[in-house]
Formats: sequence, C-alpha cells, structure tokens
Amino acid sequence: MPTPVAASAPPDPDPELERLPSWLTRLGDAILTTDSRQRRTLSLLLLAALVTATVVVLLAYATMIGVAQAKHIAWLAGLFGLFMVGFYTTIRSGLNRRFSDPTLALPQVISAQSLIATGYAMTGPVHGATVIMLSLVMVFGMFSLRPAALRVASLYTVAVMGAVMYWCVRHQPELYPARLELFNFALTAVVMLAMSQLSGQLMDMRTRVKTQKIALEQALTHINEMAARDELTGLPNRRRMMTLLQEHATRHARGGPRFYVCIIDLDHFKSINDTFGHAAGDAVLRAFANQAQQVLRGTDMIGRWGGEEFLLLLPETPPGEPTLGVARLRDTLAVMPASPTLPDLRVRFSAGFARYEDGEPIDQAIERADRALYAAKSAGRNRSVVL
Ligand code: GH3
Ligand code: MG
Ligand code: MG
Repeated sequence: MPTPVAASAPPDPDPELERLPSWLTRLGDAILTTDSRQRRTLSLLLLAALVTATVVVLLAYATMIGVAQAKHIAWLAGLFGLFMVGFYTTIRSGLNRRFSDPTLALPQVISAQSLIATGYAMTGPVHGATVIMLSLVMVFGMFSLRPAALRVASLYTVAVMGAVMYWCVRHQPELYPARLELFNFALTAVVMLAMSQLSGQLMDMRTRVKTQKIALEQALTHINEMAARDELTGLPNRRRMMTLLQEHATRHARGGPRFYVCIIDLDHFKSINDTFGHAAGDAVLRAFANQAQQVLRGTDMIGRWGGEEFLLLLPETPPGEPTLGVARLRDTLAVMPASPTLPDLRVRFSAGFARYEDGEPIDQAIERADRALYAAKSAGRNRSVVL
C-alpha cells in the first residue's frame, strides 16, 4: 500500500537551551541529571536547600545578637546539612525510583517539619518566628503531594508541634510561657488545617487543567489530521501533498533520492455523474482511491489533487521506470467494477508524469506533469505521457 503520510522531521532543538554556554549546560546536567522528572525533584530540593541556607545565616545572626546559643545553632545547621545531603544523594543516585512516590515528597516534608520543631525548641526568644517555616514547607509539599498525603503531613505537624510545645513549657517555662504556647499551637493548627483544605482545591484545579490539556491535545491532533486529509476519499489532500512535495524537493537538494510527480485525471468523469448521479460519482472516486492505494508501491504517495484529479509522488526506485505502478493500476481498473453499485462500469484515466529536475521550484515540475496530462488527453485518453 502506498504511504499516504510521510514521517515528520525530528523537532528542532530548544533555542533556550542552545543559548546557554555548553559548560553551564554540562554543570546543570551533572547536578540535576538529564531526566526531566529527576530534574524537577532535584530542582525543588535545591530551592529548599537555598532557603535552608538562608535560615542558617539568620540563625547565625541570632547567635551574634545573643538571642540564640551557638552550640544549638551549630547542631541545627548540621542536621539541616545532613537532611539535604541525604535526600540529594538518594535522588541523584536514582535510589528514589524504588519508592512508590519517587519525589520522596512526604518523607521530605515530614523530615523538614521535624527539624523545624527541633529548631523551635532550640531558638529560645526567637522561637515564634520558626512557625512561619512550617507553612513554607507545606507550600513546597503542595507541588508534589496528593491531598491525602498533605493531610497526613498537616496532622503530623500539628502533633509534633504540640508535643514540642508541651516539652518546652515543661522544661523552659521562662522562654516558653504556657499562654503564649497555647496561642502558637492554635495558630499552627488552624494554618495547617487550612493548608490541607487548600491543597484539595489545588489538586482539583490541577486535575481539571490536566484533563483540559489532554482534550486540547486530542482536538489538535484531530484538527491536524482533518486539515491534511480529503474528506471524501480519506487520502492526503492537496495541501498535504504540496508539503510532501516540498519536503522531497528539499531532501533531494541535500542529496536525497530523485522522484517523479504524476497527475491522474479520470476520463469522462462528468458523464458518470450525468448518467448515474453525483453520489454514484462520489462512490467511484472512493473506489478509485482505494484501488490506487492497494495497487501502487508502498513507497508511492497518492493524494487527491481536486475534483477527479489525483497527484502521485513516486520515488525513483528502480531508476527510470516511473509509469509501471500506474500501468498496473490501469490494468486492474480495466477488469474491476468502477464501484460496488456499478459492476459493469470501468474507470479509465489519463496520467501525466514529470521528473523533478535539480533545484527547480516544485510548481515547475507540477506544471510539466499537467502538460503531460494534457498531452495524454489529446492523444486519446486512457494513457500515460512522461515529460
Ligand atoms: P476529461 O476526460 O476531459 O477529464 O473529462 P471529464 O468529464 O472527466 O472532465 P471535466 O473537467 O469536464 O469534468 C470533471 C467532473 O468531475 C465535473 C465535476 O462535476 C466532477 N466532479 C468534481 N469533483 C467531484 C466530486 O467530488 N464528486 C463528484 N461526484 N463529481 C465531481
Ligand atoms: Mg479534471
Ligand atoms: Mg476528467
């Protein structure tokens, strides 16, 4: 069967990526890998690391102004570092792929909240400020966690903060007065519950966008398909054939194979319409398209050029004999019914061939094929002429 649509060319490289210096691209690949999912997971982790590093600097400042103890902050900084290196190594080595959720979002959120809770107990007079970090971690979680997992993370946060606050009230009541801690706990609980609620809505929105995206992609594929096909025969239409001809001309200019252009016009088609009606004429066109696809070589491409005209693109293999396939089609049609409802009618056609010449505009080859067709008609129809 002839190929109605040729494979499309590979997509052009991303111009954004091309503009980056190669050493920077290589460094990015070394740190973040080239796998797009791993890159996204690692990018989020590195962003979290950046925020954590800033927090450590702020904690160092708290030590300098005497509101936090250096040894506590050193401990915290060490724990943060361990946490980041641990997750980075797990993801960078690909070990994370063994887990059901390779983003490791839930373990990351749980570990971060545990560290912040530890920090809460160690930062004495400035401990109130650490509560805001809990929310930031939840925002990170919203990017990758499902609502159920985020609910688990929220409940865990409320529980661990409750336990830490209770411990602080018991052991350092001068820095963690019970009334203030009750206030902090209530605030933490409300914010965490609101966030898990919001994450549900965010997920709904994401699902809706995803569904719409899939529907749009399907519609686009369908539209492209429709824009390239002739509705009556299902063959590639004139526009698609022009694109294929241009592609072949370009390929030929780069050393690709030569090809022939052939225009087929059914003989006395008007009389079929006049005698049997337009619908019968349509059926004949469909049957012709069907036969042509079956009889021509797999490498030949046929499309509907318009009306009762068809255009063939014939790669030159074997060299020098472009008319053989069309002659075979002529022989087949001579013994075949013109359509299932017209068993005694035979379809005949004239064909004009033109070889694509080096560097010529494709219109020129088409025009030559048209002239060859005209010559075939003038010479009595039901024949092929090569120009
Ligand atoms: P010739 O041998 O010189 O080509 O004669 P012809 O009758 O085939 O050519 P002409 O150009 O006089 O007529 C072509 C006819 O094809 C006229 C037109 O109504 C018919 N036609 C064009 N498109 C369609 C179509 O989609 N369906 C049907 N049924 N007929 C069509
Ligand atoms: Mg015609
Ligand atoms: Mg005709």
